[in-house]
Amino acid sequence: MTYTKLQTKITIMLVIILTVSIGLNNVIGTYLFQKKYFEVLEEQILVIGQSLKSQLDRIHSLGITDRDLVGFDEQSKEILWKYKEISIIYVVNTDGRVLFKSKNQETSSAVLDVPELLDAVKSSREGIVSYTYQDNPYLGAVIPFLDNNETSYEGSVVVVVESNKINHKLSSLYKYPTLLSLLFFVLSFFLIMLALSSWVTNPLKSMVQHMNEAAAGNLRSYANTTARDEIGQLGRVFNRMLKQISGLLMQTAQTVELEGRYNAEFKQRQDGEKLRHALSSVSSTLDEGEVNERILASLRELVPYTSAALWIQHYDTLTAMITRYDESSSGYKDIEYAESQANEMFNLLQQEEQPIVKEMNRVSFLHLPILIESKVRGMIIAQNHSPYIQSEVGLAFTYTSQVGSYIQNAQLYRQMQRLAATDVLTGIHNRRHFFEQAVRIFQQSVDTFSHLGVIMFDVDHFKGVNDQYGHPVGDLVLASVAGRVSTYLLHDESQTFCRYGGEEFVLLINNTSNESVQALAEQIRRGISDLSFPTSHGDLQVTASLGIAYRNEQAETLEKLLKYADNALYKAKASGRNCVAVADEC
Ligand code: GH3
Ligand code: MG
Ligand code: MG
Repeated sequence: MTYTKLQTKITIMLVIILTVSIGLNNVIGTYLFQKKYFEVLEEQILVIGQSLKSQLDRIHSLGITDRDLVGFDEQSKEILWKYKEISIIYVVNTDGRVLFKSKNQETSSAVLDVPELLDAVKSSREGIVSYTYQDNPYLGAVIPFLDNNETSYEGSVVVVVESNKINHKLSSLYKYPTLLSLLFFVLSFFLIMLALSSWVTNPLKSMVQHMNEAAAGNLRSYANTTARDEIGQLGRVFNRMLKQISGLLMQTAQTVELEGRYNAEFKQRQDGEKLRHALSSVSSTLDEGEVNERILASLRELVPYTSAALWIQHYDTLTAMITRYDESSSGYKDIEYAESQANEMFNLLQQEEQPIVKEMNRVSFLHLPILIESKVRGMIIAQNHSPYIQSEVGLAFTYTSQVGSYIQNAQLYRQMQRLAATDVLTGIHNRRHFFEQAVRIFQQSVDTFSHLGVIMFDVDHFKGVNDQYGHPVGDLVLASVAGRVSTYLLHDESQTFCRYGGEEFVLLINNTSNESVQALAEQIRRGISDLSFPTSHGDLQVTASLGIAYRNEQAETLEKLLKYADNALYKAKASGRNCVAVADEC
């Protein structure tokens, strides 16, 4: 059994209590016993003395006047044998002369040499006398007796008891109670310890164990509460406390869960709102460049990045469409991605169709696939100094899963626009698109006072080409003429070239001198006449007639300018074709 500190304390306390109580009990018991014993002894030696006196009286009554005390001696021996406490019996006369002494039969004339006894004897006083003789304490019972006539005191019977003998006897008597006390001490100690263990220390130990388990987190470690004492009460209070704590913890957990759910829902709503806003920004334009621009700009509302790039696959080529970087983060002006690396990541994204996050040189890279018609056709690579967290990746992926359709819409719109503006046969602008551009260029020229010229030309005798070589050859001629002329143009905002109708073409040129326009017309004329078309009927060559008009006071509107160019073309036709004519009005 291992002793606890409490047990040690209680043991010390018990030893003190038991020692003090048994010690006190022994001391007080001994004192009282001794006192009573001496009282009884005094009474007894008086009684013995009186019985001896009666014997003496009887001897006297028999008429033995010479103090023949032989019979008395018998009596005294018997008493001495019976009562071992008695040391000596005297018979003395009133002067203290010893008439009889139990130990010594000689009735010498010796006188009692104890003043206290002598004093009592002389005064014939019946009673107990305590005295010290030769440093030993004694008790003497003095019983006076009368003479034969019973008129005067003749002497006294003295019964002496040596106190030390009594004490010695008493001490042997104390030995057994003391031993018994010790036995009871040991027995009661073990009984108390047993009771202590089962009533106090063991329940307390069990309580401590339950408390430790509870402190370690096991809130189901309930204490044993069957005892009706304070420890049982403590256990019940402890159990109640555990239930309260469990309840509180449950409440807290519920609150935390509710809070978590609320926060998650709030975050989801917030993310949803951000996503909706980002996508609406992207979807509110059909311009391809603007869509690309907005895809990266809006991504910024969802996840942080220091720089980002949008890559789109056209046929089999992956092209970086646009890059964006955070102005405030110096040192990351460009997305740190080589084309080979981008292709490698794009292949991975095509396989996994999931975002890929990579950490390189303490920079976090987020690769997001862009799905167009359920296939990975593009990607966004965003990079940031701090790592991308799961929720950011998820939100960004939801975003990029949807932007693909907007990219596709913009691409389709661009194609549609191109188709709407393009002449199917020649691939150059059609008449409708020409007018859209021409109105803008004309206005620009008016606003900037720039030189503006128009060249209108028509393939000569084209009807004959069709008739002689067939329509497909005629189509080829038209496409080749347009193609050749296109090679002479700048293809910028200052020029627009279209198939005006049938085998007629118009070219509007801004910011160019009249001479340059004229030179260009000449170049066109020559270029067309240089074309050669091998046919089954031999090589075919065509010519064209060109009319030029410049914007001036008379040609103050686009309609007028075109009208004057048409006049000039008519003039060229009239002049024998395959030539350039400038409008009269210019
Ligand atoms: P001119 O020198 O006076 O211009 O004589 P022309 O024969 O070129 O003029 P005309 O206006 O009589 O004939 C134009 C012809 O162009 C008529 C038409 O069949 C042909 N044409 C118009 N559009 C096309 C086309 O798309 N393909 C082909 N193959 N021929 C076309
Ligand atoms: Mg013609
Ligand atoms: Mg014509």
